[in-house]
Amino acid sequence: MINLGFDIGGTTIKIGVVDENFNIVKKLNKPTPFRDPDALVDLIVNTAKELAGDEEIRTIGITIPGFVDKDGGIVDAWNIGMWNVPVKQLIWERLKANRIIVRNDADAAGVAELMAGAMQGIKTGLLITIGTGFGGALIIDGKLFHGGLDRGTEPGHAVIDRGGRKCACGHHGCIETLCSAMALKRLGERAVDQERGLIAKRVAEGEELDAKLVIECAKSGDLYANELFDEYTDALADAIASFVNILDPEVIAIGGGVSEAGEVLLEPLRRKVPGKTFFGSCGKIVKAVAGNNAGIIGSLI
Ligand SMILES: [Zn+2]
Repeated sequence: MINLGFDIGGTTIKIGVVDENFNIVKKLNKPTPFRDPDALVDLIVNTAKELAGDEEIRTIGITIPGFVDKDGGIVDAWNIGMWNVPVKQLIWERLKANRIIVRNDADAAGVAELMAGAMQGIKTGLLITIGTGFGGALIIDGKLFHGGLDRGTEPGHAVIDRGGRKCACGHHGCIETLCSAMALKRLGERAVDQERGLIAKRVAEGEELDAKLVIECAKSGDLYANELFDEYTDALADAIASFVNILDPEVIAIGGGVSEAGEVLLEPLRRKVPGKTFFGSCGKIVKAVAGNNAGIIGSLI
């Protein structure tokens, strides 16, 4: 029996063949078909058939960067340009598998952390994933909490800055507008506009400005990059403190591209978050460990 995980991202689909102990035994990447649900379903069905060969498929897991309904259909996944696509049903019609799971990518990452990562054995936890967007997954009573009306949870779209910048979701001042990798890149733009510090220098030398560059410049000790990064961790600490006040989690795990900053990110959060909470303290703030494979593993459990 074979398990196949498809982690669908904005540009790339990470595909993994996973054994019974959640080890990835084979991995490949394919480009995500944009605004083409038929091509997406074809790709999943054909790749699954190729990888399975004569073997029976136990589970096909699919993670979607967007809102997934309880029947495994995409409701809204704007960054792959797909709306109202009954993915699970379309795959069932064409492929034999014991089960098919379709879930939101942050929920999948939360499940991966719970089963095989930073939240093993805990009852209450919060995973936040900081990439282009700001996702999250809540663990309550040792299980993934999928919302009272089964629509998942979207901590990145709680408003932190009333009347602030317009968010991708259409509202204004969401946590995502101040705490995503895009927000960090925008802080870097300030350095470029002011022609100040190492960020401006490296961009002038032809490097692409992104969150990674801002983090690298802060790590290398550049004063202005650190000032900007400090502004970023202030906003992120505000957001995390608000989550702590609502959920009081034992563990707050941080994943996604920005978490690759490691201690440069975690140390200021551990220093700043407790003082911003109602309680004056908080659970452990750690890096998510399932990392790049979280979507593949978490789609299958
Ligand atoms: Zn929003």
